[in-house]
Formats: sequence, structure tokens, C-alpha cells
Amino acid sequence: MTLAEALALAEQSGLTRLDAQLLLLHALARPHERAWLIAHDRDALVPDAATRFTGLCERRLAGEPVAYLCGEKEFFGLRLQVDARVLVPRPETETLVEWALSLKLPPAARVMDLGTGSGAIALALKQARPGWQITAVDASQAALQVAQSNGLALGLAVAWQTGDWLAQASGPFDLIVSNPPYIAEGDPHLAALRHEPRMALSSGPQGLDALRTLIAQAPARLAEGGWLLLEHGYDQAKAVRSLLHAARLSEPQSRLDLAGIERCSGARLSTAPPDPAGGIGQG
Ligand code: GLN
Repeated sequence: MTLAEALALAEQSGLTRLDAQLLLLHALARPHERAWLIAHDRDALVPDAATRFTGLCERRLAGEPVAYLCGEKEFFGLRLQVDARVLVPRPETETLVEWALSLKLPPAARVMDLGTGSGAIALALKQARPGWQITAVDASQAALQVAQSNGLALGLAVAWQTGDWLAQASGPFDLIVSNPPYIAEGDPHLAALRHEPRMALSSGPQGLDALRTLIAQAPARLAEGGWLLLEHGYDQAKAVRSLLHAARLSEPQSRLDLAGIERCSGARLSTAPPDPAGGIGQG
């Protein structure tokens, strides 16, 4: 059987072309070589690799993420090692990173990433802003091992800590970011995510429990003018902006992801008295 024939069979069994290509390259121990595969698709598939490929296809069809099967995922230009100890980094989370990088913060800004998982957000920020002092917290010791080894592999220095959101963190921080669990406990789409850590995905009946806790804890840990930026579900922007407002944070606002969905919301701490001329205008 040729590589092209093996790919065609995998597609017939229900895999997307891209998934089939990535898994075949993994079975051939040629990760990241899609151009090679396209140029060599008439090569014969040797029996060993064929056995590995079949096994990977079966696991993919049973719902395991390709990222776990290949052991890695690209996020914001970084190649991260991932496995079932951590949530697979999603492209929509790059919206949060871009927002954080657009803020005007001090060169040595003190930054906290809560629920860091694979370390994706913390490492993307550190790569782009080497001067920032970044701490990343996760309640899962197992997740932190993954994050820490990603930091070592990429040569990016982040302080990794176990903790329950901000409970053990002192602060103050110029920026707090988080992609917390936000899927409602009864949401049927959790079934499709059953291979990923439940504690990284769902939080309470409306999916708002972790967001509520974080937003309640943040004001006491933010520096004056410091920002809290949060990822949330496609239908939670309004609820999150009201929570930010209720926590007396200023300028609550949201950002769209590439699919046009309000995917992140944030606000800042401002204890400055309101401008007495505010709203009146000149003349
Ligand atoms: N964006 C993920 C999903 O809907 C969920 C990630 C999260 O809960 N933080 O699949």
C-alpha cells in the first residue's frame, strides 16, 4: 500500500485529510513534514508504520485529540508538548495573548497566568516580552509538570506555582490573565471533550464559577491601573462584563476571536477619583 492509499482509507473511515496526514507523519517519525508527504505519497507504507498508523487512526476516531496522539500542539508560534494532563491549547486563546501584548505595561511588568495548563499563555507572553516577570499557577501538579518542561524546552523563564487561583498569590500584578474552565456542567459538548481534563473545562451549572472566583479575588491583587483579562464561553461576555463591573473594575470591555465571537473580556483597577469634568465637556 502507498502512503496516498493509506491516507485515502483513513479519510474513508471518517478522519479529516489534515488529521490523517498529521497522524501518518507521526507514525513515520517525520513530524512537521507535510511537504515531504505530499511529494512522496507514492512511497510504500512499511508494515511497522502501517500498524502504528492504524492504531493512531482508531484512537482519533474514538475522540482523542490529534495533539495528544502527536504529543504536541503549536500555540502562538511555540511548539508545546501536550498530553492528557493538560487542555489542548486552542487558537481562540491567541486572542487573549494578543490583547495582553497590546497593553502599555511597564518593561518589567508583573504578570500572573491563572490555570496555566500546558503553560501556553505564560510562555507566549514571555517569548514576546522577555522583560516581563511572569508567574503561572495551576491547581494541578500534573499540569504544572507539563508547563515546567515546556518552559525548559523553550528556554523561557516563568515561575510555576501550585495554587487555587489567586488564594496563595501575593501580588500586586500589572496584568492577570486566565483561560479558566468555563463550560457549563450539563453542556452536551463536553462529551466530545472527554479526553481532556474535566477540571480545565467545566465549572458550575452555568460555567461561571471559576470566572466568578477569579473576578472576586483579582481587585485586591492588581496594581493601580493593572488589567485583568479573561477568556470565556461564546455566550458569556455580557455576564463577565457585569461581574467585572460589580467587582468595581473599570472600563469593562470584550474582544472578538477570529470567528467573530466575543471570546475575552477584561477590565482594569483604577482607584483614581473620577475626572470632575467627566461627561460635561468643553464649552
Ligand atoms: N474553548 C474550549 C472549548 O470550548 C474550552 C476551554 C475552556 O474551558 N477554558 O472547547
